[in-house]
Amino acid sequence: MSTDECGTLPLFEVPPVAVPASTRLSRADRQAAGIAYGLHPLSSSRTVIPLHPLAERVAGAHGRQDEPYRCGLCWWLGRPYGDRGPKCLVNDRARVTPGPASDVQPWWPACPSWTPIPGGGDQR
Ligand code: SF4
Repeated sequence: MSTDECGTLPLFEVPPVAVPASTRLSRADRQAAGIAYGLHPLSSSRTVIPLHPLAERVAGAHGRQDEPYRCGLCWWLGRPYGDRGPKCLVNDRARVTPGPASDVQPWWPACPSWTPIPGGGDQR
């Protein structure tokens, strides 16, 4: 057993603990967990957005492209910043920020404000 420079003994030895480089979940992981729980990925700690009652609670890199109740088939999906990521323009653009955190993935399950595109079509 070792002593410190004053000669005192430690109460107990503390073994080294391996700490992962990052214990935080990625944004995609948090969104996937939220979808499984019934939350739309645009939900935040301040705003809870439930999923559309008919939307599949499917998360993943691609989701189900044949699922009709998804953001990519919603009239409110648009590109207010040109080539940058698509945004949800519902409620006077209340969900839009200039950064990537408010980018919408077309495969995301829809929220209750989902509105079909007149004549069908895909906003992807
Ligand atoms: S309004 Fe449309 S684009 Fe916006 S989150 Fe809901 S389903 Fe997605």
